[in-house]
Amino acid sequence: MKIAVLSRNKHLYSTRRLIEAAEARGHEVRVVDVLKCYMNIVSKKPEVHYEGKKLEHVDAVIPRVGASVTAYGTSVLRQFEMMGTYTLIESVALSRSRDKLRALQLLSRKGIGLPVTGFANKPGDSKDIIKLVGGAPVVIKLLEGTQGIGVVLAETNKAAESVIEAFMGLQANILVQEFIKEAGGADIRCLVVGGKVVAAMKRQGAEGEFRSNLHRGGSASLVKITPEERATAVSAAKVLGLSVAGVDLLRSERGPLVMEVNSSPGLEGIEAASGKDVASIIIDELEKNARPNNTKTRGDKG
Ligand code: ADP
Ligand code: MG
Repeated sequence: MKIAVLSRNKHLYSTRRLIEAAEARGHEVRVVDVLKCYMNIVSKKPEVHYEGKKLEHVDAVIPRVGASVTAYGTSVLRQFEMMGTYTLIESVALSRSRDKLRALQLLSRKGIGLPVTGFANKPGDSKDIIKLVGGAPVVIKLLEGTQGIGVVLAETNKAAESVIEAFMGLQANILVQEFIKEAGGADIRCLVVGGKVVAAMKRQGAEGEFRSNLHRGGSASLVKITPEERATAVSAAKVLGLSVAGVDLLRSERGPLVMEVNSSPGLEGIEAASGKDVASIIIDELEKNARPNNTKTRGDKG
């Protein structure tokens, strides 16, 4: 197969591993910088152009689109879908997962465990929103933040109000969430591929840090997940329509709660912690599904 990996940097660990795994299986891989793609939108023959000419035909696309290029990356991905090219992650699923609120709303409709979450637009509503999620301590998050940046713990109602009002003053979109204290600064990352959890790790935040992100100094270790955690992770990926997903769970007193579903999960931490060749498992999944016009979602439904 001819495979295009949409990535801005072919030296990144995850990109490199996917290329290695695909080449080891005899596929021809090309790294395409999504920001250098340009498109013609016409009624019969949509095309993607790259570096001065029409991009050669590819059989499958693996998007590794960074958070900062979500909007343009999704458009390029959608263009591949319009051309009938198989994409490992569909454009609709990508945009669902990148908007934390939209993702939580879709998960809540299916009854998946979630931290109680509030959302508001006007600073005047901040007191009530804090009350709605059970009062301080609360976690306040930028809707499109990643790597723990833009996630704040407010320990008192007063602090929460100030943070919410400050973010709103900057026109930032935020959500306010119940703080799951008993998670103890840790979360569980489940790597779901093709409807199965293929690897899992526990991430523990650095001393005195409630955020477990590896980018914020957290450390990863192998973990055995419960059947309930496994089922929750699989359902979450399914609801968002992701064939590959990093589902992050918080261990709470009322069972596993989905905090976030990542559509470009990093492979370095999880491969190291689990000892699994996750990249090859992803390529297996791609081989199973890569056929022209095999896109499940049609248009932008939810
Ligand atoms: P990001 O997309 O920036 O990674 P997350 O929503 O994953 O944002 O939050 C970052 C980290 O903060 C999580 O990995 C988790 O350790 C901690 N965290 C986030 N939300 C909560 C919460 N409601 N209760 C307890 N800890 C949380
Ligand atoms: Mg996270």
